[in-house]
Amino acid sequence: NLSGRLATVVKTLRGHARLTEDNIKDAMREVRMALLEADVALPVVKTFIDHVRQRAIGEEVMGSLTPGQAVIGVVHDELKKLMGEQNDALNLAAVPPAIVLMAGLQGAGKTTTTGKLAKRLKEEQRKKVMVVSCDVYRPAAIEQLKTLAGQIGVEWFASDPSQAPVDIAVAALDYAKRHFFDVLIVDTAGRLAIDEAMMAEIKALHARLNPIETLFVVDAMQGQDAVNTAKAFNETLPLTGVILTKMDGDARGGAALSVRHVTGKPIKFIGVGEKVGGLEPFHPERMASRILGMGDVLSLIEDVQKTVDVEEAQKLAKKMKAGKGFDLEDFKMQIQQMKRMGGMGALMDKLPGQLSQMAQGIEGAGADKAVARIEGIINSMTPEERRKPELLKASRKRRIAAGAGVSVQEVNRLLNQFEQMQKMMKQFSGKGMFKLLKGMRG
Ligand code: GDP
Ligand code: MG
Repeated sequence: NLSGRLATVVKTLRGHARLTEDNIKDAMREVRMALLEADVALPVVKTFIDHVRQRAIGEEVMGSLTPGQAVIGVVHDELKKLMGEQNDALNLAAVPPAIVLMAGLQGAGKTTTTGKLAKRLKEEQRKKVMVVSCDVYRPAAIEQLKTLAGQIGVEWFASDPSQAPVDIAVAALDYAKRHFFDVLIVDTAGRLAIDEAMMAEIKALHARLNPIETLFVVDAMQGQDAVNTAKAFNETLPLTGVILTKMDGDARGGAALSVRHVTGKPIKFIGVGEKVGGLEPFHPERMASRILGMGDVLSLIEDVQKTVDVEEAQKLAKKMKAGKGFDLEDFKMQIQQMKRMGGMGALMDKLPGQLSQMAQGIEGAGADKAVARIEGIINSMTPEERRKPELLKASRKRRIAAGAGVSVQEVNRLLNQFEQMQKMMKQFSGKGMFKLLKGMRG
């Protein structure tokens, strides 16, 4: 995997006080292999490696005391850049109703995501939302959206499957206008593969509706195939954004890089579960860390441990903090990463004290189940609650417990664990990092 490969890069470069063209070449080969393994498309990898190489032969890496880490830093930074630096929010600045058109292949997750988006807009932005399905080919698809809408409590427009998709959309728009809806989300039919009829249909819908957002929904598990699909849709429609679904599976994240690169359009959200709550804003920084894996953080720590250079440690600490506090969203990501890295057992000896204790706590409870429960609990929180856990008073905890199907005690236990982890992360800042590392050296 990518983090494993990169650990090798660091190890190889570690011995060299100075980088030479030769060992940079070796390192770049490893990075290249790693990206291909993570499902990043070849042309994207090429461009990426070029950028990293340019910087690797520059002062920033060459002048570093620890060139291996510096290379990793550059890789992380370039990954982030490739994915767009920061989150792009949904644009609803239109004369109401703001129209959101969903496009993508069959099975990509359009209908599910339509429901998820409707829920977010309703609950977080207090929007009056209506959804409509233009999938006249599969009556079950229209029913699926109806069920979702009922679950979320948003208006569902009853499509007449004997009408053409454009006529359904126009009727829905007309209704939404007359009833003062803020947002109309238009779900469409996809095919299993790109075909002209589908493209003509989505193009016609776009021309007639003139949506403020045209979102391309793509399954992250599709890996390389996602690139061709993205290209075709991007050439047919003026896309405004991308939603990557099924990021909760073992998708390797490469699709995020490729799709962004190929379309040049921002990834706005990621789908992280089948339930209506499973949609999160996309954060390039987090995705870069995810692609790199937690392993690099661990190997960075190991390296700093050996280098024991206060200045370097502090620089690193700053980078890790990146001006942001450690919140429940990060916590969830760490947990997911641990899961991806093959369970807690393998990791436990490497972790510093408090974290190791926490991992043992989870391990004791049956690692996989416990991790799923933790994810469930965090998924049941609103993004604001994840950012500010101090908001979580009794009534909110009850709501979260009910949503996740666990007891309030379990929510409390999770919050305790999070607090411990947060404390640990705080030690990473400033001199605390140095102290922590000294502690680790025993
Ligand atoms: P559509 O054909 O594009 O409308 O796709 P659907 O919305 O019907 O989704 C196809 C399948 O993917 C369904 O079984 C969904 O539950 C599932 N699905 C959609 N989004 C996600 C996601 O983010 N994570 C997971 N695990 N499953 C998803
Ligand atoms: Mg559908």
